[in-house]
Amino acid sequence: MKLIIAKSAGFCFGVKRAMEIALEAVKKYPQHLYTFGPLIHNPQAVQYLEELGAKVKDRMEQIPKGTVILRSHGVSLKDLEKAKRKGLKIIDATCPIVKRAHYFAKFLRRNGYELLIVGDADHPEVEAIQSYLDKGVEVVERPDALKRLGPWKKLGVIAQTTQSFDLFKKIVAASLERAKEVRVFNTICHATTIRQEEAIEIARKVELMIVIGGYNSGNTQRLAGICREVQSETYHIETARELNQNWLEKKKKIGLTAGASTPSWIIEEVEREIRRLKS
Ligand code: SF4
Repeated sequence: MKLIIAKSAGFCFGVKRAMEIALEAVKKYPQHLYTFGPLIHNPQAVQYLEELGAKVKDRMEQIPKGTVILRSHGVSLKDLEKAKRKGLKIIDATCPIVKRAHYFAKFLRRNGYELLIVGDADHPEVEAIQSYLDKGVEVVERPDALKRLGPWKKLGVIAQTTQSFDLFKKIVAASLERAKEVRVFNTICHATTIRQEEAIEIARKVELMIVIGGYNSGNTQRLAGICREVQSETYHIETARELNQNWLEKKKKIGLTAGASTPSWIIEEVEREIRRLKS
């Protein structure tokens, strides 16, 4: 059996940075330390941080005092203001690449463009971007959604950082039919593009593709979806326990990748389990 593991599998720069910030914070602030929502979209990593003392709170109202770490995919203006009003110590672990998307969104609005965000409307990253703008923002996930929007005079287009580049291109093309002027900033994170391209390349070569990551992780779901388009035998799992021996039967070439918030220890466990089941 040949097991091909993606070089890009696992923590990206932004998630690694957020984890390092949080691990530093648990040493420095052993009491009353909170993360606003899960720091990253991986339940096992979040549980590890909770065991070290960083409790997860989904609403600022639930944080009585102390220190709050802002998650890697950003926080809405309203929540940021609540944290400040409460006098909480704020540690900002927002990924700089997510902040870059905020910058372009504000830049476009300042220059009179309506804004189109290619992304999941209920993803915290997209909600946060929207919160920094007053109005005139639409979020779309599919090119055909543009038929019910616009027409616009000046339209600015950006993407959620973990979107598929292919989808972004299709939506930008569709927006040209609906707006006189379109200004585009590609805010997709380069690490995401590399991870997706490598996953497609591996998925094409193998008989079975395993994608590891939190079920709540948008980028892992997308990664699994992209792999499934070229390899119908693609499974998204969170941990090694979910591996099913039936999937592995008669498979000589297996591919493995993981989302941006999947810790290396989980990837290693899955690798060991695949090798054990195939031995
Ligand atoms: S995927 Fe990219 S934008 Fe998102 S946290 Fe990682 S490095 Fe930052």
